[in-house]
Amino acid sequence: MGYEKVHGDQLFDGQVFHGNNIVLIRDTRSGKDSIVAAAEAGEDIQYVPGLIRPGFVNAHCHLELSHMKNRSFPESEMNDAMQNALEEMKADGIVAVGDISNSAITVPYKRSSGMHFQNFIEVLSFSEANTPARLLHYQQVLDTFLMAGLQSSNLTPHAPYSVSATAFEHISKTTANQVISIHNQETRAEDELFRTGGGDFLQLFEQFGISESPFRTTGVSSLKSYLPYFNHGQSIILVHNTYTTREDIEDTNATQGNPPSPTTVD
Ligand SMILES: [Zn+2]
Repeated sequence: MGYEKVHGDQLFDGQVFHGNNIVLIRDTRSGKDSIVAAAEAGEDIQYVPGLIRPGFVNAHCHLELSHMKNRSFPESEMNDAMQNALEEMKADGIVAVGDISNSAITVPYKRSSGMHFQNFIEVLSFSEANTPARLLHYQQVLDTFLMAGLQSSNLTPHAPYSVSATAFEHISKTTANQVISIHNQETRAEDELFRTGGGDFLQLFEQFGISESPFRTTGVSSLKSYLPYFNHGQSIILVHNTYTTREDIEDTNATQGNPPSPTTVD
């Protein structure tokens, strides 16, 4: 063999559509793909109905929460739900997943999935007092992933309103030049917390017995309050961005590659 040849009704290379008079040839030894005119592609060409394209990337998934999809979640259904979610993603043409993990329960499913997983071990740490214990816990979760051979795994912050300054610093130091992810500016209250120290988040903190904002009031948006922590070449996937403003985006672009010192927020 050595070569696999396929053509479809349309071929998309990730940037350009090539039409149907074209053949994708894969060298099965090197894994290298070539796009060749049908007249020059030779024999043994397999027709695949529909569009031929690169695999999709699901940049934000919570595989371990799959059982909550239909809002009925006895524990016994969790494993089936994770397996079903993997099958669904595969059927959708997804080949790589950025997955938020609070525990290691997804490890066996990821190992046998045949998909690439970038595992974001999500740190939640509201108070400075609990931060050392929380970081120890999440490091153990991370170690479980690494020891299982899932090397694309690192710590990641949950959200600006749920990660202490010390935890942000620890995550930043341990993720130099890696990809991280954070739930950003999902609600208006998130910005208000950092701008004024008040707003609806205080009710959430009260449930944890915390009477005032555990975070420094910076007078600027949540994004601008935490972004300076990540000054070690990280690429950051910002999730939600419901209340991200033009100013936030312009300031973020302006500081790209040259972030301000983290001392501005601690
Ligand atoms: Zn999420």
